[in-house]
Amino acid sequence: MNRRYRKTLIAGNWKMNKPLTEARPLLDGIKQRCSKARWCEVVLCVPFVNIPLASRLMKGCRISVGAQNMHHEVSGAYTGEVSAAMIKSAGVKYVIIGHSERRQYCGETDELVSKKVRLALENDLRPIVCVGERLEQREMGITLEVVTLQVKAALDQIPAGQVRKIVFAYEPIWAIGTGRTATVEQASEVCKEIRAVIRKKYDARIARSVTIQYGGSMNADNAKELLGQPDIDGGLIGGASLDPDSFNAIVQAANQ
Ligand code: PEP
Repeated sequence: MNRRYRKTLIAGNWKMNKPLTEARPLLDGIKQRCSKARWCEVVLCVPFVNIPLASRLMKGCRISVGAQNMHHEVSGAYTGEVSAAMIKSAGVKYVIIGHSERRQYCGETDELVSKKVRLALENDLRPIVCVGERLEQREMGITLEVVTLQVKAALDQIPAGQVRKIVFAYEPIWAIGTGRTATVEQASEVCKEIRAVIRKKYDARIARSVTIQYGGSMNADNAKELLGQPDIDGGLIGGASLDPDSFNAIVQAANQ
């Protein structure tokens, strides 16, 4: 973390969990525990149907609401899809884009991610862009190349003045939902490289201002060490965001 230059951000990703009846007690539990965090911003990326409830419950407190996806077109005949303007009008501030589960199961490409990032910014939404390598890519020693290409694609046609609104989440795919966390050295190396890519495309001042998260089995035990690294400015939290105490432990580690 480096609060002098950028925000610390802890974002929960509920994925496809919690119907409305279960969402309410979880939102209440998180609100009770986490809403006093002063030094880090907290976001809950909930399923679409939970967004209105989350927005209502979190009104007036420091916790923001996020979405887990949005469509890459503005509007029209896309049955079953949800647009950037729709989530914005429901109270969303952040939107996860290009999560590896969407890249893997829904065929999301770098081109689609790039379109979505631009559309999110046009709608005054802050994209949380997920990048990360597969296990075999790490084993082949091409992690930095893979992540660099993903970051460059996400920044395609993004003017300098908009870059600080983008959050990057480095999520090694082999660490998501597996209980296997990247080592502090692995996570730091990639987050540092993401910042270097931004610096080369824009400049040092812009690169310094971008929040870069780590995601992949972050929990109460490993959060403090990961968040203690200068280029890791927060976490994207899956499993642990479904338990108020575990999520709060991570928020408190970021709030130091
Ligand atoms: C995620 O969903 O982005 C994630 C990092 O999940 P988990 O924390 O469960 O590994």
